[in-house]
Amino acid sequence: MLHREASARIAELEAEVRNLKTVMVAAAEEIHQHWAAHCDAEGYGPQNLMRRLEEGIPSEYGYTAGAFVELRAEVARLRSFAAGVMESWPHGDVDGGELQDLAIAHGLLVPQTRHAPCAVGCNCEMYGQSSEDWAAGVTCYRQEPPHA
Ligand SMILES: [Zn+2]
Repeated sequence: MLHREASARIAELEAEVRNLKTVMVAAAEEIHQHWAAHCDAEGYGPQNLMRRLEEGIPSEYGYTAGAFVELRAEVARLRSFAAGVMESWPHGDVDGGELQDLAIAHGLLVPQTRHAPCAVGCNCEMYGQSSEDWAAGVTCYRQEPPHA
């Protein structure tokens, strides 16, 4: 990255951090101003939240803002895939090839060319019938995200 691009990116990220801190403080002030509406006599829930907002302890939330963005993108991808499958409802059906095409179009399967099986039992292992197939390259359909 060029120095100028890096400087611009740093300035952009610093501005984002300032904005996020402003949101945290505004949220803490909002809760403080309307304390009675948020809690019981002991103030347990809001007190914890205010401390987290004021101190900004990301590790206490169990996720990061980046992970949240990724989860939203994954939900959108899955939703568009489901919409593609549902296009055949109620009068059609979906065969394996159509399902594979939809999964590729929506990023749930990622085709990769292999010259040897990835592993015993991998889907590519059954497509490669001969050494000529493997020399030419066999498509392996990788699941995204990978199954655990
Ligand atoms: Zn494979």
